[in-house]
Amino acid sequence: MTQLSSELLTTPSIEAMETKETLVAIDVRNLSVTFPNGNGGLRAIQDISFHIQEQEFVCVLGPSGSGKSTLLRVLAGLLTPTSGEVYFYGEPLKEPRREIGFVFQKANLMPWRTVLQNILLPLELQKVPSSEARRRAMELVELVGLHGFEDSLPRDLSGGMAQRVAIARALVHDPQVLLLDEPFGGLDALTRERMGDELLRIWQARRKTVIMVTHSIPEAIYLSDRVLVFTPRPGKLRLDLPVYLPRPRSDEIRYSPAFGELAKCLRAEIG
Ligand code: ADP
Ligand code: MG
Repeated sequence: MTQLSSELLTTPSIEAMETKETLVAIDVRNLSVTFPNGNGGLRAIQDISFHIQEQEFVCVLGPSGSGKSTLLRVLAGLLTPTSGEVYFYGEPLKEPRREIGFVFQKANLMPWRTVLQNILLPLELQKVPSSEARRRAMELVELVGLHGFEDSLPRDLSGGMAQRVAIARALVHDPQVLLLDEPFGGLDALTRERMGDELLRIWQARRKTVIMVTHSIPEAIYLSDRVLVFTPRPGKLRLDLPVYLPRPRSDEIRYSPAFGELAKCLRAEIG
């Protein structure tokens, strides 16, 4: 085998990656949401179409008020769109589903419950037998790096730790899709970078499909396979940018010329 062909085998070309057989996890077709406001309605998002492959990591970027949270609420089955459809593995999405987990900007933990009890909550609601529930919750405690803190109360946690609990709680019933709405918005820059690495590690370990809203261009590039950019309100899809940076991602990638080019491109689009 020549040097060249062995190189080709280890580094798939872009064409090879695109033709790899993948399932569409989420298919969004001509989605619009208008909120009633007594004045003809407030158009939050307008005619958005895209699809997300299984196990893809997609970030959504856009100005404040461009309908990013509205989109996520529709994808979570929490909000019925004014028009258009969302399909989850080919089935119309009409209501929240167990296969779709959600993490908000604020951890929203129950203050009187310990870390473990907070993570256990979705399993209690599903009436999973307690020994099985505990085993799964402890696995998640390990996965998000909170070993030793399972009996702590939320008031004793840092912001980053509280968000880890929220991520563990969203993952404990093993959803296929994880939706995150600016989950690291309240954290300082360094903690935020560490949480991003943590999320990538979890995504790689559990092979989830992730859709995450963020305000941060570098965060979107660092984490994603693709970045969707919204226009100002009413939010329309302005750009669907593939991120062909190698994985696993590392700090070095943040300083690579390709990263800089992508950041410049996104900055120009967001204006
Ligand atoms: P983003 O997350 O991009 O900042 P949102 O999706 O939260 O934007 O909001 C988009 C627009 O829709 C904003 O103008 C917001 O005020 C409006 N909006 C969001 N939710 C509601 C609601 N439940 N009722 C009325 N207007 C809403
Ligand atoms: Mg929002």
